[in-house]
Amino acid sequence: MTRAYFSLGTNLGDRGAFLALGVSIMSAAEPHRVSRVYNGEPVGGVVQDDFWNLVLEVTTSATPYELLERVAEAETAAQRTRDIHWGPRTLDVDIIWIDGVNCDEPQLTVPHPRMLERNFVLVPLRELREDLVSDEDLRRAEGRVDVVGTLETLH
Ligand code: ADP
Ligand code: MG
Repeated sequence: MTRAYFSLGTNLGDRGAFLALGVSIMSAAEPHRVSRVYNGEPVGGVVQDDFWNLVLEVTTSATPYELLERVAEAETAAQRTRDIHWGPRTLDVDIIWIDGVNCDEPQLTVPHPRMLERNFVLVPLRELREDLVSDEDLRRAEGRVDVVGTLETLH
């Protein structure tokens, strides 16, 4: 068993419902914990609505590539389309960290290469794993994030 961490984000449609759907598919009935939900301003320059983000921890026996298949399953279930690169999406799931795993392939890069740049990843991740995010990391990362609530209250 290992612990894997996923960043889930949405800025289209019923954001609470898409996050709940993502958590349910990504956790696949395995033991899991979720951070609070954060509102974050979009990064990447495309004008669009704010994102809601959370981080999910799953204690799993699945391999990294099996987890990547779950990512595709969750994004498909949310009817995600890819019209604009870094544009609006119903659900984006990124694998940000898996204990003991270092994988440098184009299809799967873990730890996620951009996790340290983004407050919408680091702030919720720190709620679950303080040891993975330093004060210095938070000072360097970009983008303002504010707590919106918990998944239970928002959905
Ligand atoms: P982005 O998340 O950068 O906005 P996408 O969600 O469209 O872009 O992801 C594109 C590809 O990134 C996927 O086909 C996937 O195979 C690859 N990928 C590489 N590393 C990861 C990772 N750690 N988590 C999720 N996808 C990844
Ligand atoms: Mg992605």
